[in-house]
Amino acid sequence: MQFEYYSILSISREATPEEIKKAYRKKAMELHPDRHGWDKQKEAEFKKLNEAYGVLSDDQKKAHYDRHGTMDNHGHWWFGGFGGGFQGGFDAGDLGDIFSSFFGGGFGGQTGWRSRKRADIWEDIEMRLRISLEDSILGGTRKIEFERSTTCHHCSGKGGKTETCKSCNGHGQVRERVQTVFGVMEQARACGTCGGKWEKIIEKCTYCHATGKIKEKIEKTIDIPKGIENGMTIKLRGEGNKWNDGNGDLYITFTVPENEGGLARDGADLHYSVRISPAEAVLWSERTLDLPILGKRSIDIKAGTQHGLVIAFRDEGMERLDRKWWKGSLMIHIEVDIPSKLSSDQKKLYEALLQSEWGKMKKGWMEEFFGS
Ligand SMILES: [Zn+2]
Ligand SMILES: [Zn+2]
Repeated sequence: MQFEYYSILSISREATPEEIKKAYRKKAMELHPDRHGWDKQKEAEFKKLNEAYGVLSDDQKKAHYDRHGTMDNHGHWWFGGFGGGFQGGFDAGDLGDIFSSFFGGGFGGQTGWRSRKRADIWEDIEMRLRISLEDSILGGTRKIEFERSTTCHHCSGKGGKTETCKSCNGHGQVRERVQTVFGVMEQARACGTCGGKWEKIIEKCTYCHATGKIKEKIEKTIDIPKGIENGMTIKLRGEGNKWNDGNGDLYITFTVPENEGGLARDGADLHYSVRISPAEAVLWSERTLDLPILGKRSIDIKAGTQHGLVIAFRDEGMERLDRKWWKGSLMIHIEVDIPSKLSSDQKKLYEALLQSEWGKMKKGWMEEFFGS
């Protein structure tokens, strides 16, 4: 159940620390087992109330809970490491940098940029997906496979056949008197024999080796967001490891090449180089380019085109994930290709051209250099 701690305390998610404390104090008085003769139902509610307050009164735990709507069973919520299905190839120490993430509109409903904190990584699964530049430009779908942990359905996650714990008679708790902020109170502590689970395993589940968890293979078709860049991550909410009290998320980090078939990417812009002859640069030409992925584009090479000129096609680059209302540009770079091999006809023409240039130079640099 998501965010149930707030409803347990009957407060809104915007409640201040003071309000949380006040709400807890009120409920604790109402539900305290001493007032109900250890009624099992009230006792369970009291236990849950303490659990809720334990989380919501701790800044760090609360921050985590506010993000996930649930807490881990296993107590290692802080830097819990990766879920079982992690298949990445990078060092965990780099995660803060790598996950300058994009959470696509089609996935979690959140659009925008966000850095992932390491505390988020807990029941989540991380994976890498290699796609082509073409996939990134055109978008599309991709079938992925991954493994995740889920509750063992043979033992319903209990780890085996169970019976009511005799040490605590199924209370899951033992009572002790403690000094609290409200004065001395009788408080419940988890039973040491059953670990507060009310039940004891009497026959281990062989299917999950009494862990209560099994691995499942998942096949899924995901959307590739147009414009996704190398290192960007999308989040598939609830597709991570599944436990009784909630699911982790699946994070897919994309590996995308920067170059493909002569097309190079720089953010949302695409670059392509075309080589023209000196004669085309000097006189005039018209070219129809057959670009990889993008198809045909016509360019007009005007008389006197310089080497390095860039012809830009605005809004014909890649989709922008951060600013959806406009796209990048397609930049065609003009490179004047100086021929190193000439036919005899071409050689004669270049020689004639050179003679003409020398004639014009008169007292040009060549005469100065070689003497007249
Ligand atoms: Zn017990
Ligand atoms: Zn099992």
